[in-house]
Amino acid sequence: MKHYKFLDLSDSIAPDVAAIKEAINCVVDSGRFIGGREVERFEERLASIHGVNRECVSGVSNGLDALRLIFRAYIEAGRLKPGDEVIVPSNTYIASVLAVTDNNLVPVFAEPDIYTYNIDGRSVEKVITPQTKAVMPVHLYGRPAWDAELLKVAKDNHLIVVEDNAQALGALAECNGLHGSRLTGTLGDAAAFSFYPTKNIGALGDAGATIAKDPEVAEIIRALRNYGSAKRYENIYAGLNCRLDSIQAAILNVRINRLEEESERRRSIADTYLSEIRHPAVSLPIRSEGSVWHQFVVRTAERDLFREYLLSNGVETDIHYPLPPHLQKCYHQTYGQLSLPVACELAESVTSLPMGASITVDDAKTIAGIINGYPR
Ligand SMILES: *Cc1c(COP(=O)(O)O)cnc(C)c1O
Repeated sequence: MKHYKFLDLSDSIAPDVAAIKEAINCVVDSGRFIGGREVERFEERLASIHGVNRECVSGVSNGLDALRLIFRAYIEAGRLKPGDEVIVPSNTYIASVLAVTDNNLVPVFAEPDIYTYNIDGRSVEKVITPQTKAVMPVHLYGRPAWDAELLKVAKDNHLIVVEDNAQALGALAECNGLHGSRLTGTLGDAAAFSFYPTKNIGALGDAGATIAKDPEVAEIIRALRNYGSAKRYENIYAGLNCRLDSIQAAILNVRINRLEEESERRRSIADTYLSEIRHPAVSLPIRSEGSVWHQFVVRTAERDLFREYLLSNGVETDIHYPLPPHLQKCYHQTYGQLSLPVACELAESVTSLPMGASITVDDAKTIAGIINGYPR
């Protein structure tokens, strides 16, 4: 029986191994291990991909730090203050929420749509209060969390829009039909990126980046990531150490060349799942042209049985995520009493199918066939 791995990072990096080793050697020989040319090159590349000024982009240590730095920069700029409310999706990965609470801001959970897994204008509008100052669309599983209504709600309520783009590098959002489609990460005021090894484009360790459209905010992020200092031994802010390693930047300068190929590959696998899986007990996500399908997530009522069946047929799966943030031990006391039925239902029913470099379109067809044979 053939075995379908959920994800194998050796498979993901396989086509780039020689170039990665060469890039690492160059850094070793350069004698420059923090910042420097490779970090600048990567920032330039991200800026050009997203059509923003080079100054808007900062390479940072990881995705969580990218989000933390963005909120901290808005606080330093006097545009947010501790106690302000930030709307976050109730079913996001916990890092989105950690960045909010780390800055003494208050997370307010908006429920996602059960078929897109994302928040939208309506769900955000429902939880707005006079204290709401920002909203964080999370482009979960690589699917743009963006619609004309979300933009309108944010504008009407003067909300700062911080995108969590950790899972959606390269995703395209429909922008009202007016401007055509635009890359996630350029829709709001600022965006956080992660290059954690399992993301669509991953480093060989931790790495992240921010885009901030406001030059003042971008400049503060740059200082904050480096002890709050823009000039050596002059500290404007009580900053952090959240820098991007040269070696990870050099690796990312190799890996980023695969962005389009990787997105296309994932789109073909998702298309195959969407057109081939036909089982009354399995709910599929709604189609999304612009998604980069970081995960392909289906829902079933008796998830354990479903996953055991798949595994017994050689198909590994995973769960993203088994417990929503508000029920995690760290938040349970403060937010555990909230009624967030959609987040809870998703946590109990979602299964992520194999996606990425370890499987082919033909594999996806076979996996769909196995799912269609699920005896329920
Ligand atoms: C991975 C991820 C993060 C955090 O990124 P790290 O680089 O792992 O710190 C934040 N938000 C979401 C939605 C993520 O998937």
